[in-house]
Amino acid sequence: VFIAFEGGEGVGKSTQVALLHDWLAGRGRAVRTTREPGAPTAVGAVLRSLVLDPATTGLAPRAEALLYAADRAQHVHEVVRPALAAGEVVVTDRYVDSSLAYQGAGRELAVDEVAGISRWATAGLRPDLTVLLDLPPEVGLARARGRAAADRLEGEPVGFHRRVRATFLALAGAEPERYLVLDAARPADDVAGDVRARVAELVGE
Ligand code: C5P
Repeated sequence: VFIAFEGGEGVGKSTQVALLHDWLAGRGRAVRTTREPGAPTAVGAVLRSLVLDPATTGLAPRAEALLYAADRAQHVHEVVRPALAAGEVVVTDRYVDSSLAYQGAGRELAVDEVAGISRWATAGLRPDLTVLLDLPPEVGLARARGRAAADRLEGEPVGFHRRVRATFLALAGAEPERYLVLDAARPADDVAGDVRARVAELVGE
């Protein structure tokens, strides 16, 4: 079972990924948590610092899209497919939809072209469930700025983050059976409860 968490800046993905991990592990499930950009692999570490380091100036939007696609190809090859093959529940913090939202809509590359690159990079591997944590960008950015390290994107204009949010919501709206859209302004425990209810159906708990 493959589950992805998606959403804009400061929506609480990493908190929810950790809570879901603990809940599944507490039920005796083998669970692998991972993330993009930069899954815990040698290649992932290099690609993450390339795309996120504020020192990476002048990165062309198409180059950025290809770096994210390369990161994802490595992630799927080295982490996701082997874990799925071993029967683990794989929970990723970001996946293809982040590229459609950030590189496709945010950077104003064509969303369908970025989708084509991602399909190729993943050899078509899609999540069984995508949890979209939704929050107005003003709220999420304020939360994210409260954290320690800033990355390249938090300085983008709010219009960028509005396009990102709208794209996530449109993707979810187009395929409601494969998405769970949650209001991330609620307390983390309430959000986690909704996630667990849906995941329980999926994994047969
Ligand atoms: O999820 P996390 O906040 O760690 O993501 C790191 C940064 O990478 C974020 O600013 C996010 O917006 C950005 N990102 C991106 N394109 C992706 C995935 C993440 O710009 N495909």
